[in-house]
Amino acid sequence: MSETIFTKIINREIPADILYEDDISLAFSDINPQAPVHFLVIPKKPIATINDITEADRELVGHLYLVAAQVAREKGVAEDGYRVVMNCGEKAGQSVFHIHLHVLAGKPLGWPPYTDKMKQA
Ligand code: AMP
Repeated sequence: MSETIFTKIINREIPADILYEDDISLAFSDINPQAPVHFLVIPKKPIATINDITEADRELVGHLYLVAAQVAREKGVAEDGYRVVMNCGEKAGQSVFHIHLHVLAGKPLGWPPYTDKMKQA
């Protein structure tokens, strides 16, 4: 897999607002937040998309959710509620091909997450 900007964040080659780190994962604020709280949780292992997750990654993927919940608690949004999203592929809006959970909170979040304009497409 070719290197993405997230590998550069893991390797501290570019700056990020890092919220949590352990041996296998990293959480940091999204540079273009879509809600008052918007952070990303990534594995350090570069996996391009959900389609590339294998049996060997089962525990790792579960770990990302535990980190998401922990950082949400630390941010004070766990009780009010938050959304966790992982986009898969270009049509779903994935722009960085290194899997990541988006964690969004701090305002009422609409559902379903698409617009009438998108429905016509
Ligand atoms: P996606 O479109 O689902 O692949 O999400 C990629 C996310 O990465 C977007 O929400 C971007 O704002 C975010 N992003 C891209 N570059 C950076 C960066 N250098 N630091 C933090 N977040 C970033």
